[in-house]
Amino acid sequence: MPTAIKRVEIHAQRKLRTLLRDHFVALDAAAADPKRKVAWCTSVGPCEILTAFGFDVYFPENHGAMLGARKVSHEYIPRAVAEGYCAESCSYMNSDIGASLRGYSPLQEAFGIAGPPKPDLLVYSTNQCREVQDWLGYFGRRHDAPVFGVRPPGHLGLVTDDQVAYVRGELEALIKDIEARFDLTLDEARLGEAVTRSSRASALWHDVLETAKAKPSPLTFFDGLIQMAPVILMRGSQVAIDYYEELLAEMKERVASGVGAIPGERHRLYWEGMPVWPKIRELSEKLFDLHAVVAASTYCNSWAFEPFDGGDPLTWMAKTSIEIFINRDEQIKEAFLTDMFDRFAIDGAIFHNARTCPNNTNSRFGMAQRLRDSLGIPIVVIDGDLSDVRFFSTAQTMTNLEAFIEQLEERRA
Ligand code: SF4
Repeated sequence: MPTAIKRVEIHAQRKLRTLLRDHFVALDAAAADPKRKVAWCTSVGPCEILTAFGFDVYFPENHGAMLGARKVSHEYIPRAVAEGYCAESCSYMNSDIGASLRGYSPLQEAFGIAGPPKPDLLVYSTNQCREVQDWLGYFGRRHDAPVFGVRPPGHLGLVTDDQVAYVRGELEALIKDIEARFDLTLDEARLGEAVTRSSRASALWHDVLETAKAKPSPLTFFDGLIQMAPVILMRGSQVAIDYYEELLAEMKERVASGVGAIPGERHRLYWEGMPVWPKIRELSEKLFDLHAVVAASTYCNSWAFEPFDGGDPLTWMAKTSIEIFINRDEQIKEAFLTDMFDRFAIDGAIFHNARTCPNNTNSRFGMAQRLRDSLGIPIVVIDGDLSDVRFFSTAQTMTNLEAFIEQLEERRA
């Protein structure tokens, strides 16, 4: 029987729904206004450039995650498959394409708008995967809108000045393409401001995540999945900064008064890989009942960039865009995880083998085993997917998690 423990509410979150509604309603209005322009951008793409040009920016991956969280992705993926997309390609992409073809969007129920705003421009960066190029390419054809891309070098070890300079050149080319296509001129001061705000929001988000080093941890990975929305969707805005200042103050207060996200915290876990959006609630409740807090994750840290020091905004954008975890080699990833396990006092890690996202899955080439051996930390690998429930067995996963926590209990004893 699950224990009758109560979740500790995050007060700042009461504002979040309003922020999100305002954000999507504004995007909807921008798409309907001939004087405004909407750009679609990948989640770790060059959104600050688009903001500086005056575009309203929309992130389609968030829509994919919403479809997953609403547990409906599997209903729309077959429609994309009928269009020629492989059923084992990115389920964000497939469900987004399928839902669009069938005229469905979770934005209808959540915020009362018809769906994603029609794009005037789509911009991707392959710093995370090549799938985004095809995903935005599809919608570019569909809406007869230009698709521009940045293609940085991938699987990097130490990031070199030459690599940063190369990507900076790509960003300059992107700016020129946008200027030519839309008859605009980039206001460099506006770019500097957008980068400063982006960096500030990102730094605050990083500080929020760092509060989880405390024992008990004031927030979990599952809280983070909700709280990270502003740093993804509004990261060049003052709204995101204000939100994270409030959230950080609340988390610091929790730490000072010893309030944990999970009363009776016994085990501290790490989540590596994509979330399982349709099963967030079940997973969160199971771990809650087992008194296990997921104190840190790679995923939530994906939007915690190095701070901007006031130098060249394009160099900062180039550098931070290729330094992200997903764009690094195995050695750098292992060093990152080793450091995270240590700093957050992790007892055990969960690696999610996401079927349709090999790019953000790190259990396929022995990494979990190597870290187990070198650090002596128990690691469990769960099979699943970010959105497609057909690749996830709830019963099997819950049994595996229970056995894993038992293993941690034995180690404690
Ligand atoms: S990183 Fe994975 S989930 Fe994200 S767009 Fe690429 S393939 Fe899809």
